[in-house]
Amino acid sequence: MRIKVIGAGVIGLFCARSLQQDGHEVIVSDRGNIGTDKCSLGNSGIIVPSHFVPLAAPGMVSTGLKLLGDRKSPFRIKPTLDPALARWCLLFSKSCTRGHVDTTARVLCDLHLASKQLYLDFAAESGYSFGLQSRGLHLVCETQQRFEEEVEVCEMGQKLGLSVSVSRGGMELNGVEIMAHGSVHYADDCHLDPGRLLDCLFQDLQARGVEFEWGAESRFEGADGYVLACGAMSGQVGKSLGLDIPVQPGKGLSYTVEPPQSPDAPMIFCEARVAVTPMGRGVRFGGTMELGEWSFSVDHLRLQGMVESVGRCIPAYSQMNRGPVWAGLRPCSPDGLPYIGPTSRPNLWVATGHGMMGVSLAPVTGQLIAAAVRGEPVDTSLLPERFAKRGHGTIKQS
Ligand SMILES: Cc1cc2nc3c(=O)[nH]c(=O)nc-3n(C[C@H](O)[C@H](O)[C@H](O)COP(=O)(O)OP(=O)(O)OC[C@H]3O[C@@H](n4cnc5c(N)ncnc54)[C@H](O)[C@@H]3O)c2cc1C
Repeated sequence: MRIKVIGAGVIGLFCARSLQQDGHEVIVSDRGNIGTDKCSLGNSGIIVPSHFVPLAAPGMVSTGLKLLGDRKSPFRIKPTLDPALARWCLLFSKSCTRGHVDTTARVLCDLHLASKQLYLDFAAESGYSFGLQSRGLHLVCETQQRFEEEVEVCEMGQKLGLSVSVSRGGMELNGVEIMAHGSVHYADDCHLDPGRLLDCLFQDLQARGVEFEWGAESRFEGADGYVLACGAMSGQVGKSLGLDIPVQPGKGLSYTVEPPQSPDAPMIFCEARVAVTPMGRGVRFGGTMELGEWSFSVDHLRLQGMVESVGRCIPAYSQMNRGPVWAGLRPCSPDGLPYIGPTSRPNLWVATGHGMMGVSLAPVTGQLIAAAVRGEPVDTSLLPERFAKRGHGTIKQS
């Protein structure tokens, strides 16, 4: 089959790779080009089996409401009367249940672990170097309350088969002192350089004969089947095709510094929600979540909140000059699970809604899309139209 993947972010590129490996003739179509800024470029690059609890979890609504009043907090909802954002928030609050966490934790954990293995295979088979390192992830807690919460979650991780250990007090990573009340280490996590990953994927796909169509906005023509992978824009593109796939942008910021000494493993400062990733010769800091925000502008007070948390947890970095700030729009679904699989249109599949975990879940998403195109069933919790009341017809075949 001739299949067009719409969207050349990390999700679209891995879908293209798996489809090509299944023998399809594949075209990747994007309104920009490979270097055009997209969420897949400036992110923190952490592969996260540790993130088996979806964003939609008990306590998230009250936590979010508390943070709304603080101008330096990592979280904000854009004040707007947009009915799509209001509906998203309602669906999110309905998903924040214990039952949702219990039924999805195993699904998410297995997907992340499968993806991690696929990354290791990709690096070994292709010989490409995109900074993949298996050093786990430290969840660093500044307060006792947060530490106790993370210890509780880590017991769940252990039951899922993850390798997790708990330490009290601060720690030293490669000579860099980290201040903490305590921390939890997830040994199964790993990290990579997302910019280099995209370059390697692009080279790999070109070598496989995948075609690229740049500067092409929503061009659903010239193929037998289509995969919608437009990141944060996917909800709007889906709507233009008659599909109901609620996706809201979750704007995040990152900046990279080159300190004399870098930690040798990634961390997340849990209270400030800042991810710290060693990347090349530098260290990248990623954080903030501005829900419903489509602009790429930088909120300097929120950035200041990030910078202050870095200074608190890594005193040696408190006076560090930061590089330019990057902004990206995470494609967020209301239940914290991605949309992967077939739609009510027989020749259209969807791969989006990965929120904070798109890099981590990209290789397994590609495999699931290839399986769905072969007609194999997809876990119902991932189905793209799970929030829709009804479906629609077929895209005109070429
Ligand atoms: C600060 C920050 C840190 C993050 N850290 C991590 C992390 O550590 N680990 C992790 O797993 N994830 C992380 N993420 C999330 C991750 O970056 C995203 O989930 C992922 O990049 C989404 O990939 P995507 O391919 O769906 O979207 P994108 O990368 O945004 O790609 C979508 C593509 O679709 C194209 N497009 C859009 N509309 C159209 C259209 N109408 N027609 C044609 N093309 C179109 C765009 O040009 C773009 O190229 C982070 C995100 C942020 C913001």
